[in-house]
Amino acid sequence: TKWVYNFGNGSADGAADLRNLLGGKGANLAEMSNLGLPVPPGFTITTDVCTWFYDHKNSYPDDLNGQVEAALAQVGAVTGRVFGDDKKPLLLSVRSGARVSMPGMMDTVLNLGLNDVTVKAIGEDAGDMRFAYDSYRRFIQMYSDVVLGADHHEFEEILEQHKAENDLALDTEIAAEDWVGIIEQFKALVEKDLGLPFPQDPQEQLWGAIGAVFGSWMTSRAKTYRRLQDIPSSWGTAVTVQAMVFGNMGETSATGVAFTRNPSTGENTLYGEFLVNAQGEDVVAGIRTPQDITEKARLEAGSTKPSLEQLMPECFAEFQDICSKLEHHYRDMQDLEFTIEKGKLWMLQTRAGKRTAKAALKIAVDMAEEGLLTENEAVMRVEPGALDQLLHPTIDPKATRDVIVRGLPASPGAACGAIVFSSDEAEEAKAAGRKVILVRVETSPEDIHGMHAAEGILTSRGGMTSHAAVVARGMGKPCVSGAGSLRIDYRTGTVSAVGRILNKGDIITIDGSSGQVLVGEVTMLQPALSGDFGTLMGWADKVRRMKVRTNAETPADARAAREFGAEGIGLCRTEHMFFEGERIVAVREMILADGEEGRRGALDKLLPMQRQDFTALFEIMKGLPVTIRLLDPPLHEFLPHSDEELANVAEAMGVDVEKLRERASSLHEFNPMLGHRGCRLLVSYPEIAEMQARAIFEAAVEAGKITGELVLLEIMVPLVGLKAELDLVRASIEKTAKAVQSETGVELTYQIGTMVELPRAALQAAEIAKSAEFFSFGTNDLTQTTFGISRDDAASFLGTYQAKGLIEQDPFVSLDQDGVGELVKIGAERGRSTRPGMKLGICGEHGGDPASIGFCESVGLDYVSCSPFRVPIARLAAAQSAL
Ligand code: ADP
Ligand code: MG
Ligand code: MG
Repeated sequence: TKWVYNFGNGSADGAADLRNLLGGKGANLAEMSNLGLPVPPGFTITTDVCTWFYDHKNSYPDDLNGQVEAALAQVGAVTGRVFGDDKKPLLLSVRSGARVSMPGMMDTVLNLGLNDVTVKAIGEDAGDMRFAYDSYRRFIQMYSDVVLGADHHEFEEILEQHKAENDLALDTEIAAEDWVGIIEQFKALVEKDLGLPFPQDPQEQLWGAIGAVFGSWMTSRAKTYRRLQDIPSSWGTAVTVQAMVFGNMGETSATGVAFTRNPSTGENTLYGEFLVNAQGEDVVAGIRTPQDITEKARLEAGSTKPSLEQLMPECFAEFQDICSKLEHHYRDMQDLEFTIEKGKLWMLQTRAGKRTAKAALKIAVDMAEEGLLTENEAVMRVEPGALDQLLHPTIDPKATRDVIVRGLPASPGAACGAIVFSSDEAEEAKAAGRKVILVRVETSPEDIHGMHAAEGILTSRGGMTSHAAVVARGMGKPCVSGAGSLRIDYRTGTVSAVGRILNKGDIITIDGSSGQVLVGEVTMLQPALSGDFGTLMGWADKVRRMKVRTNAETPADARAAREFGAEGIGLCRTEHMFFEGERIVAVREMILADGEEGRRGALDKLLPMQRQDFTALFEIMKGLPVTIRLLDPPLHEFLPHSDEELANVAEAMGVDVEKLRERASSLHEFNPMLGHRGCRLLVSYPEIAEMQARAIFEAAVEAGKITGELVLLEIMVPLVGLKAELDLVRASIEKTAKAVQSETGVELTYQIGTMVELPRAALQAAEIAKSAEFFSFGTNDLTQTTFGISRDDAASFLGTYQAKGLIEQDPFVSLDQDGVGELVKIGAERGRSTRPGMKLGICGEHGGDPASIGFCESVGLDYVSCSPFRVPIARLAAAQSAL
């Protein structure tokens, strides 16, 4: 077996496509060698050796030693040096690298091969003893820390003490003779700590470092990271051993890191930092302040330290050239590491650079316009979920953050306003033109108006799927939830954390993207929907097959959704309007009425309100499909809770409070989620369906007169399990349609369909489709009913399930494709077997989740519907799943 792959000197055994075998670092070093770029020669021991190592009680294959020796000899031949030689010793770096870059793996060891003898040879050869000793002390420090497990602080202390005693500020000021003394102290420290002298034998050093890299694959740090990132432990790590080049050979040497484009803005300019006379991690370690690579960056930063462009113009020009070569070769922004040894540039690493969402967008669009990528490739380059960061105001990265507490990043975007503690206060403040943040222990459906009025929501209790979090995401409002260390006292109107107290009216800022809560107002950056964003969305729309609709019931949400590109409404939850203003009294009257007559009385009051709501919605959505769901939630949700509320309803109905109280308690349900709701209500009380259908049809006629164009009406009956349920409700709707047609003389076109949200409906889809003209998969309820768990109560154990690895993701966030998804698939197939080409969609939170959208594409749904702010995410995800 070939265990070892050489690279360097313009060629390599491997290439970039051997990433799995050579690790990302090793594969790209091979690729750069093949491209003829200046790469110090070396070799990579494959990930297969790592696997072998763990399969064979931490030992190596028999033929590995010979292959390493041969590879070393080849490196020696290229460099004109010999590993362990006492005249021209070869020094090495030992580097780790898995398929994906992984924190938690072993740190790189530099200058390996140095000992009391070779250090002198290196110094004499370079004519620079300071450099040689500086390298040796670095090696002892690193090797002891990384391979031998000594405490690196003690080395730092020796160094700091020496500098303090000699009044020196920087390591680079320490002279050769002084390093000799420090090195003796270092070696003594190792011997004292570990009970063994520091290894002088280069072979022992090399195999010690190789063993440490493989060993680091199974450290608990590495295992934890792999679990979090879903990286199988079978991948293993590779070890790259490479000839050293020295950035610490004085003033004409340097080391640095760079990005081929700005990783935070995406701007197409080289961006990076370097240090003169330095090695390895000095640049990122913050020992000295690094310098800018380009003049442009130096000027922008107002730095007085010269840039690489000024200091070493030839190296800079060569580096710039290499950057552009690598970008063209990999067709992506690169993150590079380089070292300059006495004026000669060496490349040490390249990989695709990490970037912000903003940069990802700009780079993708720019690269397509530069001809480096096709439009479709650009569409694939941006992660849909990342767009979320771009659609909301964000805190200016330059602003100072006075963080008082941190909660969960429940709904993205930042918002600023005065603290209020109740939804009524929020509404009053909004009416008076003031901006507020609604601060609650938790929120409930009765807080909808306050959440609407507030700029953002902060709660001390509840997780990522709490009421506050779900509703806020739906509204596109920033929300920080579950800020557990926040003490909210409604009585005194104060909120406190870490010993600081804020009062009602004090200004705070919440950052729903990071979960931070800040004191005072900070500068914000506003989102831009035009420019690169618009361009990329345009490309996405060209290739997308599925339509994207929105879940909306208010005109504001509908308008926002249209701006984000929604192509209709996939779910209008009629009852969401029931909490607005005085309506709740009429709603309660309807629920608590004794008989049909009383109910009809209350429904008559609701009719004009519903009609008005629908008219406004239909005007905005003219010419587009609008799916309206008839009354769905359990009546329970609308029941009055307080005595005051009960008294209000009693007065409106002209009945006795006590009688009403009895009626209310008789409506109480133990499992409202599985209770008297959805079409079950409409079966019991057909007059509700009639009223809603009338409001819908009359609104359609009215809006049609205003806009000159009818909406495409889709009336959706919720929670159907039996075809007979749908038939019954359907009859009421059709009867009403006929009545409205003859009253208005307007020909109505509409479809009646159902939400598939019960397993029975999915299984019986062929039968139900005889009566349903369309299906919309209500995957929120379908998840609840398939798993047999309640979303509200699941928070208490789903977290444990995730932590113990029983489930990968919260099934309410990302569709459970195996189980719930199978029902969707069955429902789609059986529905279409009865009614070929039947329109199918999905509503519910999953309609805005990229992975779930991919699934919808795979089962051939016609559209997804999601909250307004997720519409762009869904457009991009739908495009990617079609490509
Ligand atoms: P990481 O994965 O943490 O980035 P690397 O293996 O890239 O670790 O090594 C870290 C740094 O060590 C590099 O950025 C480079 O500065 C230095 N380094 C690695 N190999 C060499 C080498 N052959 N010659 C000089 N410096 C090296
Ligand atoms: Mg690196
Ligand atoms: Mg439902």
